[in-house]
Amino acid sequence: MANVKQKPLFRSKEVSTVNSSDGTFSLEKSGKPNRPQEKVNGVKNKANGLGKSLNDSLEGDLRDFLINEAELHTYDDLTKVNPVTPSTVLKCLQARYSAKVFYTHAGCTLVALNPFQPIPHLYSLDVMREYHSAPQPQEFKPHIFIVAEEAYRNVQGQVEPTNQSLVVSGESGAGKTWTSRCLMKYYATVATSSQRCQDTVERIEKRVLDSNPVMEAFGNACTLRNNNSSRFGKYIQLQLNSSQLLVGASVQTYLLEKTRVAFQAPNERNFHIFYQMMKGATEQQRLEWRLPLEQDFVWLPHAEKTLEEDCLQETVEAMISLGIDEGKRAQLFKILAGLLQLGNVDFSPAPEEAQPCDLNGQSKGFLQKAADLLQVSLDELQSCLIVRTLRAGKQNILKPCSQSECGIRRDCLAKVIYAQLFDWLVTFINNSMSADSSMWCNFIGLLDVYGFECFLLNNLEQLCINYANEKLQQHFVAHYLKAQQEEYVSEGLQWSFIRYQDNQGCLDLIEGSPSSIISLLNEECRLNRASDAKKFRVRLEKELSDNANISWDKFSKEPHFTVAHYAGRVSYQIEGMMEKNKDPVPPELICLLQKSQDSLLNSLFADGDRESEGSRGHSKVVTVVSKFKNSLESLMKILHSTTPHYTRCIKPNPDCRPLTFQKEEVIAQLEACGIVETINISAAGFPIRIPNDSFFQRYGLIANNRLAAKKKSPEMGSVVEDVLSVVIKKHSPNSTFSPDDNNNMVHCGRTKVFL
Ligand code: ATP
Ligand code: MG
Repeated sequence: MANVKQKPLFRSKEVSTVNSSDGTFSLEKSGKPNRPQEKVNGVKNKANGLGKSLNDSLEGDLRDFLINEAELHTYDDLTKVNPVTPSTVLKCLQARYSAKVFYTHAGCTLVALNPFQPIPHLYSLDVMREYHSAPQPQEFKPHIFIVAEEAYRNVQGQVEPTNQSLVVSGESGAGKTWTSRCLMKYYATVATSSQRCQDTVERIEKRVLDSNPVMEAFGNACTLRNNNSSRFGKYIQLQLNSSQLLVGASVQTYLLEKTRVAFQAPNERNFHIFYQMMKGATEQQRLEWRLPLEQDFVWLPHAEKTLEEDCLQETVEAMISLGIDEGKRAQLFKILAGLLQLGNVDFSPAPEEAQPCDLNGQSKGFLQKAADLLQVSLDELQSCLIVRTLRAGKQNILKPCSQSECGIRRDCLAKVIYAQLFDWLVTFINNSMSADSSMWCNFIGLLDVYGFECFLLNNLEQLCINYANEKLQQHFVAHYLKAQQEEYVSEGLQWSFIRYQDNQGCLDLIEGSPSSIISLLNEECRLNRASDAKKFRVRLEKELSDNANISWDKFSKEPHFTVAHYAGRVSYQIEGMMEKNKDPVPPELICLLQKSQDSLLNSLFADGDRESEGSRGHSKVVTVVSKFKNSLESLMKILHSTTPHYTRCIKPNPDCRPLTFQKEEVIAQLEACGIVETINISAAGFPIRIPNDSFFQRYGLIANNRLAAKKKSPEMGSVVEDVLSVVIKKHSPNSTFSPDDNNNMVHCGRTKVFL
């Protein structure tokens, strides 16, 4: 059969490329094909019947028709890779990454590969303006600015304004925070008017952007996986007025990893702000903060490592722009310095039984400095750390703490102060950048949350994070199915083809009623008995074993349970989980802080002991998971009320090396962020879609030459149906093709054939 020269299937009107030679970015008009050119010479072995045999043949026989490896990097949308399988999708992403193309659509999702090196001009103001002013930005090559612009235009809505949410997910170091910052800069650039009053409005945009360095200084840290890892989740709402101008913003944070203040895993660091203070203090500040250069601090490991995030000046300037005055800053830094001193306090066992522990070596000096900086009484501070006050009726009984209990109380004090300080900061930032409700009518929300986590040891933190990811995945799938449904309906197909089981089973296991992991954990905490991991494991098995998503490794000695998440199986250790869920704070510590002479510190604890152990045993106890569940529920409510846009950030290698693509790493993340799931959903429908005229050109010839005459027919759909009938009859004489049969593996849409 003669080779027939084919035209490219699509042409991008404009193609933006990164020049491989120098890595710079340019927007250029191009006639490059957006999809590979078809090859026709693989036709003779094609479809050998319907159903399974047709599917089977796809992988081999149709492959060279469907994928042209040399052109793989030109695919702008992964769902258009034919056939859509994890391996073809991976190849496509790898080809694009090698060609320095970092963004690819995956249906209604944008996949962003982290280049791990600055790409000149990729995010410049000019590029922002190009995307913003384009009549059809989606015709440009994929870019985060397409998502940004689409959301911006959608806010106005065709019928009525609709709020938008941009959900950015991915594993640690994948580029979520980078992407969120980029989106904020985009809106701060395009959603402004040149006529606006410099003094008031520009300050708002600056404040919105300045909230980033401040929140990152207090909430980010250098971890094994990312030098600037966000240790909290955040949802920021950019408020727009009726003229679509940015007039303010408000931010909601989730689950700050406060344990990091008092415990840093090997080779990890504390929150950036401590290093910024240590490195950026003036002589005067060093004296005030009691931070001599030569002093080592236990809670400040790897201070020798220099990071660009260690810049105090930038944080202070952003604080000034947000309106945190000199007095407040002085208070804030003194409290933080007090925590560093507290970390150097160490205890030795009591000399005699029933006696309180002693302070080790220089600990007394550090405790003195901590008391000075926190402006509390040294004696009271010391006694809070080493003696527990028990209430028996109206009497207080004093009980010395063991050495390890003293350490736990010291850490607890630091954690509760840091967490309250962080919340105060977030509230301050919100007050500073949020517009009055009469000033704005719509918002674009940016969600930057931790991705799915599975470590060697997983505990309550991972359970919460993965629970959040299950919720987001469910939301995503519902949205994705809706987009698929819309495509089928617009193609004239019925929407009964996809039978897809979502992750409701897993969510029932975690949060359902009457019994779920969360409800049982909370019940344990309410019962206020000594936590027993083994008993809890038995209880879980008894109450939840009907749910197929939970299992146990019978041979494991450590009490644990394994949850089959959509992104993979995760084993959670039970030891310590109940305690983490209670997160008790001894009431004596709260009392002490309420009495601090520092007005900022005492105000943080002004509204009583709601966090304290004192409320344990009462039904009103608010556990970590119930707090998290509530904030997640309000987040989901907001997301449901908005039009979502998903961006999945992918970390192409674990070592943050520039331009290095490791297949195993990427495929694992495609699984974890649900892209593989999306692909499976596509496969549950029709993974292959061929435009009618291409289908005709390829199959019309072998079906029957006579049909070639019909090529010019205006009703291409009916011609394709004819072709299908002939092909099917020829290869499977007992089968017939009926366009109305829902069970067909082949369907003719208005513009495409679905296989
Ligand atoms: P975590 O969950 O730990 O907070 P993250 O997904 O927020 O991780 P980022 O901090 O955004 O990850 O990105 C990690 C690093 O990757 C950045 O500090 C930056 O160096 C680099 N990076 C991310 N995206 C890009 C990009 N588009 N271009 C260049 N470098 C990038
Ligand atoms: Mg981050």
